[in-house]
Amino acid sequence: MAAAVAGGLAVWLSGCGSISTQQQALVDTAMGTIVSQTLYVQQEAGQKTEKEEQSETASIMRILTELEQQELSWRIADSEVGRINAQVMRNAGEEPNYDWVGKEPEREQNSGRIPREVLISVSISPPQYELLSRIWQVSEDSGGAMDVTLGRLSRLWNLDELAVLTENGSIGTTMADGERGQGEVAGDGVEKINFPTAEQIQAALADCGYRRVQLSDGMITLPAGMQLDLGAVGKGIACDRISAYLHSQPQITGAVVAVGGSVVTYGQKPDGSPWKVAIMHPREEGGYLGVLSLEGEHYISTSGDYERYVMADGVRYHHIFDPATGYPAHSGLCSVTIVCDSGLLADALSTACFVLGPEQGLALAQVYGAEALLVEEDGGLHMTKGMEGMYKTYGNLP
Ligand code: AMP
Ligand code: MG
Repeated sequence: MAAAVAGGLAVWLSGCGSISTQQQALVDTAMGTIVSQTLYVQQEAGQKTEKEEQSETASIMRILTELEQQELSWRIADSEVGRINAQVMRNAGEEPNYDWVGKEPEREQNSGRIPREVLISVSISPPQYELLSRIWQVSEDSGGAMDVTLGRLSRLWNLDELAVLTENGSIGTTMADGERGQGEVAGDGVEKINFPTAEQIQAALADCGYRRVQLSDGMITLPAGMQLDLGAVGKGIACDRISAYLHSQPQITGAVVAVGGSVVTYGQKPDGSPWKVAIMHPREEGGYLGVLSLEGEHYISTSGDYERYVMADGVRYHHIFDPATGYPAHSGLCSVTIVCDSGLLADALSTACFVLGPEQGLALAQVYGAEALLVEEDGGLHMTKGMEGMYKTYGNLP
């Protein structure tokens, strides 16, 4: 994918000899989304060449690409998740096919296939095991509102693709602008979209459900029809990896990095002012609803129904599903922001709270000691106590 690079360097005087703090800025794409970095890096004057001056931002881009390619992407056969999904499919007698989004696999035609309920065990690496265990805990705690076993369902709906094929689709779409509006269903062709039928949705749901999965002894055991989709947590996990890198680089004194709707703040700015993290307006393209002021290290994730969606007959079909129904979640919320001390948790909770709605969502955030901002479609705001001290309104709803 073409990188939109907006590099920038600014020098901040640190006041001690020839050491200066440089600002590195980079906007690029990774993990199917826009990555925006601002780093403050200390260095001795004249020590680095211009190329080396951007090396920290480049390292972060490499970390994200590796995370996607080696661990999280279901589209890549060699990633850990791709390998689990492929092994399950092969055991079920299906040929793994990474172009199958939006198409129901022709499941009943293969008579030699084993029943979809049969359990299949796949060994996974210790870090992946640890990651999945933490994700399963959030599924438990949210009563299944956040469930990464929805792979069949999200591929059936195929909203990632639908949103960029329609003019109506997608404030803040994660695809490059040039790709928007292309394809057969552009413009007024929204009604041509083939939404899945109720039968297809029920069939896909029959292959989902975190409760049917076992994690034990370094193995994941799952039903033959199931497919994993870590889309709800991937960008948060990315923020955790970025944070580990930042901690390993003593020359980096401050950073704010956004991976799509997940953000990590770290250290401090040279002038000591707080980090400002803008929250997108759910109904005004390009606008902001408000801004968070944060000191030091935090993880922020926002889930919203404006990210990837299509409108049809006045209904918003967006990318966050209610596992109880198989349809896009309509809990009364249009946006949820979580602030906490883990990227994975912030991302998992923002998705879970979105599905749960205002009351249960707020209660779940509190179980985790996370701060939450929940925005209702009619403009109502719900906040935890700690969020009140961080958040300042910018725009109004509806
Ligand atoms: P997020 O933007 O973090 O809320 O994640 C949304 C993405 O996670 C979607 O694009 C799907 O791939 C996946 N997803 C949708 N609904 C759920 C859900 N209820 N639980 C877990 N993953 C989901
Ligand atoms: Mg999420």
